[in-house]
Amino acid sequence: QYDENLFLNPEEGTVISRYGKIADVEDSAQQVYRCNIRRTLASIVTGDRVIWRKSKDEQTNGVIEAVHPRTSELVRPDFYDGIKPVAANIDQIMIISAVLPELSLNIIDRYLVACAVTDIEPVIVLNKIDLLDESQQQDVFKHLDYYRHLGYQVLYISCKQQQGLDELRCMLQNKTSILVGQSGVGKSSLIHQLLPQISQQVNVGEISEISGLGQHTTTTTRLYHLPSGGNIIDSPGIREFGLWHLEPTQIMQGFKEFYDYLGDCQFRDCNHSTDKNCGLQNAVLNGKIASWRLENYHRILQTMQDVKLKTNKS
Ligand code: GDP
Repeated sequence: QYDENLFLNPEEGTVISRYGKIADVEDSAQQVYRCNIRRTLASIVTGDRVIWRKSKDEQTNGVIEAVHPRTSELVRPDFYDGIKPVAANIDQIMIISAVLPELSLNIIDRYLVACAVTDIEPVIVLNKIDLLDESQQQDVFKHLDYYRHLGYQVLYISCKQQQGLDELRCMLQNKTSILVGQSGVGKSSLIHQLLPQISQQVNVGEISEISGLGQHTTTTTRLYHLPSGGNIIDSPGIREFGLWHLEPTQIMQGFKEFYDYLGDCQFRDCNHSTDKNCGLQNAVLNGKIASWRLENYHRILQTMQDVKLKTNKS
């Protein structure tokens, strides 16, 4: 039962993290309060801007009454609930990659699809530049320049040698960002560089739940303030997120240079692989589209279809 007299006047706040039926909300002075969520609210996630009230008696508690519309939303497939939002109001996704374990353009392209579909700005960050020898350098720069030409921001850094970190901090200012990328590229190292305070923090109420395709993952999604300005939302669950709930037409959104050539396809439902007179294939032959981009497009499409088959069977 909810008694309005037990609470102060409504105010604006930001959700720092969410644990089951409760959420930690920060007020304008960056004080954190543990809040109950009114049952009428459909979903509250980290990054949500909310209207809430502090409790009159219990100094560190409160109740969330309403949630503002989200500017963006990251979702994760959940085994029981289907697609579930995990974080909101993210401005920027930092796609971290590195030559060790391997520079995977396919994974970068997957994230670019996710960014395009969620309408969140991507930044491609190549970490571990200290490991690049001269021949690798040329190859890597050639590929990443392709993304630059498409209009994406590309940043070269070394977490180990502290190169490019000031530029990175600059890009994170006044924004809420998340870091994504395959395992081993240096995300944790980077988080520790950017947020020295994180290692001292005790993670309260950490929960483990069954998620995705039946794996166990720890999913404490949390918003941190950067000492140099801006916020990072960190979540083991979204550091590596999947794409299996997308429609084929959505995949193309991550390949923006393709749209100029689609009109040249002979068939309206061209599969861009075996059909005759394909605009995209011709653009590859004429050097307008990189062949690896068209290959990645097909690989992403294929993976998505494979996962769909797998989930339909189980
Ligand atoms: P995560 O799995 O993405 O979180 O990656 P980690 O942060 O755990 O880093 C994986 C490995 O890469 C660790 O051994 C780090 O010390 C190393 N590493 C991180 N950044 C750099 C870097 O800039 N240069 C080099 N040479 N190694 C790095």
